Order: sequence, then C-alpha cells, then structure tokens
Amino acid sequence: MRIGILGSGQLGRMLALAAHPLGHEIVVLGPGKDDPAIRVAEAIVAPFDDAAALDELASRVDVVTFEFENVPAGSVERLAAHVRVQPSARALATGADRLAEKTMFRALGIETAPFAAVDDEAGLAAAVGAIGLPGILKTRRLGYDGKGQKRLRGPSDVAGALAALGRAPSIYEGFVAFEREISMIGARGEDGATVVYGPIENAHRDGILHVSRCPARGVSASAERAARRAVEQILGHLDYVGVLAVELFLVGDHVIANEIAPRVHNSGHYSIEGAETSQFENHVRAIAGQPLGGTRDVACTAMINVVGALPDVEKVLAIEGAHVHLYGKSERPGRKIGHVTVRAKSEAEREAKIAEVVALERWTA
Ligand code: AMP
Repeated sequence: MRIGILGSGQLGRMLALAAHPLGHEIVVLGPGKDDPAIRVAEAIVAPFDDAAALDELASRVDVVTFEFENVPAGSVERLAAHVRVQPSARALATGADRLAEKTMFRALGIETAPFAAVDDEAGLAAAVGAIGLPGILKTRRLGYDGKGQKRLRGPSDVAGALAALGRAPSIYEGFVAFEREISMIGARGEDGATVVYGPIENAHRDGILHVSRCPARGVSASAERAARRAVEQILGHLDYVGVLAVELFLVGDHVIANEIAPRVHNSGHYSIEGAETSQFENHVRAIAGQPLGGTRDVACTAMINVVGALPDVEKVLAIEGAHVHLYGKSERPGRKIGHVTVRAKSEAEREAKIAEVVALERWTA
C-alpha cells in the first residue's frame, strides 16, 4: 500500500522505518528538506498548508496519516476530500483541544481533574472560585512539553496568568497530587480489533519526557484495569483507526486522565525493542487495514530520551541491552534528538542500566 504521512519529524521517520519491512511505500510531506522523516522516504518538501503539495500527496497514496495533532483543519479537509485519512478529522480535532478531550473523558465516565473553560478574566476568577487553588491554567490548543501553561499556586498568581498565556482560550484545572504519571497506548484496526500497551511509567525533566518504563512500577491491578478500560473506551468512542496514547495521573487506585495524543507517542518508543510489535508497526498495520500484532512485553524495558546534546554513542552502545535511535537532528537545548532503549530481565537490572545511560547524558534544556 502507498501511505502518506503528514509531518516529517522523528515520529514520521519511525513510522516510515516500520512500514518498509511490510512492503508499504511511504510519501512524507513536511517543511524541511533535512527533516528526520524526509530522509527515509519519498518526500514532498512543503508547508503543511500548501494546497498543491496536499493535492499531490493525496494523488500519490492510498491513505494519509499524521504524526502530530495540530494539523491545520483546512489541510485535513483538503486531504480527506481526495483520499482516506486515518485517524479521522474528528479524532485529530479532539486531540488538539484540551477542553474537547476533557469533555470526552467526562462523557465516557473517565475520571479527570476538576476543570472549567476560561476565555477571559471573569471566567478565570469564576473557575478559580469553583475549583480552588492550586491549579494549572492551560491553553486549549498548541501546548506541549509544559509550554502554554501556568501554575497558579496562590491568589497572587491569578491576576497576570491569562495575559501570560497571550489571552488564548484556555482551561483551568485543579492540581492533582499524583504519585506517578503513566500512559496507555492503544491501537485499533479497521475491524475494531484493539490491542493495548502499558501502563508505561513516565518521568519528566525540565517539563520534557525523560524516562519511560514498561512495565510501570507500583500500578495496582484495579488502576491498570481502569487505565486499560479508558483507552479502549476512547478508541471505540472515536471509532478510531491507528495508534492513540492516553496520559494519566496515578493517585492510589485511581487513574485520572490528563490528555490524549491521536498518534504514536514518545512514551511508546520502548515498544520497538520492548514489545512483540512496535507502536509504529501497529499504527501502520491499522491504517493499512491489516491485522494488528501482539503488544506483549519481551523484556523489562526503559526508554531514555536524548535531549539537547548527544552522549558518547559508542559508550551507550557498549551497555549490554542498550539500543540507540538517532533522529538525524542537530543539537539544540530542549530538542529531542534521539532516544536510548535498555532491555533488562528484572526491575533492578533495568534501574542499573538506566543509571548507566543517565551517567552518559549531556541533557541540555
Ligand atoms: P500536559 O501538557 O497537560 O501534559 O502537562 C504537562 C505536565 O504538567 C504533566 O506531565 C504533569 O506533570 C503536569 N500537570 C499537568 N496537569 C496537571 C494537573 N492537573 N495537576 C498536576 N500536574 C499537572
């Protein structure tokens, strides 16, 4: 099958790399000729809203998918008029808007932090009055890696908060005193068959994902069931085809949904070496109408992001069970330029290997 990918970053690159062994041909549309995905596939180098480029992509492939959710709505519509797009415009729109996501969680009976839409100062005052402090004000759209959000610790933080976010339409959320952050990744095929990865335990540094562990530590059986149910419900509700991630907070036996990503997800990179079938392969299989692969763990695995600057790669490769993925991006503070996966036989061994990788890091944010 001929598959188009809108987006030319590392997610597109790893999707393309997973699609090749299945015999699929990949055409990537993205803005930079040196972008990670452009170098491993047929490429159309153009901005995401370039009408002629979108039409060319649609004419060259059987299905188009996305590596990010903030695709201009007009671009999705233009593509969808000519070619099958997966996931759907509706799933992308939901994943791009924090209010839509949280409203969907509520409608499905999935626990969330208390939240309220905020459009102006009066709305913020009302939300803080109803929900209380501390809390977090987040722009509804275009936030990532902690950007587009402001923590309100006490009453004196309220006044300038909306202005600090450029007065963008926002939501205010009550602060969740979570024990861990976890994610679940689900893949759903055209026939509705669903497989799930996780729970995956995610630790952040400087607001950026640092280490993902799968299996996660300290998740009770009932919390795991709730997390699994949440991702399965969301996939079904959106009539979703492809891979989708749900980020959740763990509080005791409760899981509290934070957001979805209607795409392959950084916390799922472990699956390339750590699961029977990677999230990238399962996304490709799903949108190509093929049977999904199993998600069983093949090891006790961790993924460590390479951010800002490269470590000594030879030394990382010398760690037994370590695998290096470089995205072909130049070094820049705060930029994800690769990741390392370590496989171990036990949690203790996994921790030791994570420590070995972390000792070689040159993380700059
Ligand atoms: P987000 O962009 O929503 O993923 O938020 C970025 C990070 O901020 C999350 O990974 C959490 O560590 C933290 N965070 C977000 N929302 C909340 C919340 N309601 N309560 C506590 N921490 C939060």
